[in-house]
Amino acid sequence: MGRRFIVGGNWKMNGDKKSIEEILGFLRQGPLDESVEIIVGVPAIYLDYVNQKLPGNVVAAAQNCYKVPKGAFTGEISPAMILDIGVKWVIIGHSERRNVFGETDELIAEKCAHALESGLSIIACIGEKLEEREAGRTTDVVFAQTKAIADKITDWSRVVLAYEPVWAIGTGKTATPQQAQEVHQQLRSWLSTNVSPQVAEQTRIMYGGSVTGANCKELAQEADIDGFLVGGASLKPEFVNIVNARVC
Ligand code: PEP
Repeated sequence: MGRRFIVGGNWKMNGDKKSIEEILGFLRQGPLDESVEIIVGVPAIYLDYVNQKLPGNVVAAAQNCYKVPKGAFTGEISPAMILDIGVKWVIIGHSERRNVFGETDELIAEKCAHALESGLSIIACIGEKLEEREAGRTTDVVFAQTKAIADKITDWSRVVLAYEPVWAIGTGKTATPQQAQEVHQQLRSWLSTNVSPQVAEQTRIMYGGSVTGANCKELAQEADIDGFLVGGASLKPEFVNIVNARVC
């Protein structure tokens, strides 16, 4: 069975009541390719509201969660809380969580494991920094990040990987289709050797990093790019074109 194309929007810490109505407006208007799975990562404070207002073919995701169900962890939200409001997805290990908030591979892996055990589906983000790429360490870094997660989980059926080179996030510098495809193919091969050929074949790997309406079609042609995680452009009507990258 083929891997279903998946496009996620990551609103990050953007949006207010007014601009969220505008985003909901273009999502409702579409048209959105029905064969694509569409997810939007919403700031926690708006998650319940947006979840109730999204059109039926778009689902909401939390942008982060903690590694335990409840307790004295001021400011955090748990997978149990996310599920309690009817949201079924969470983004974990985004580069901003790793690099701005100091989240380690170990913590991200624990969050992934707990989110999956709780019943959420996860978008687990990995990706190398510019200096790591320039030092020829791209695969070392993304394999280590993936291994940390793989060591703590057993069921891959609700896992989507997002390969997001840090140098391409929010910079306007997109990886070329060949650069992205090369890493996606290497990741799939790593999964095949270190997890199982079946998991490698079935696990979707999104690309993220300055994806726009203008560059999405070429990237979407690559065999191992199964979708996109989109930051800045997910706040704009061109997100619809990105969702439709494989059809028009
Ligand atoms: C992201 O936030 O995951 C991202 C890829 O951002 P941008 O599309 O703005 O580069």
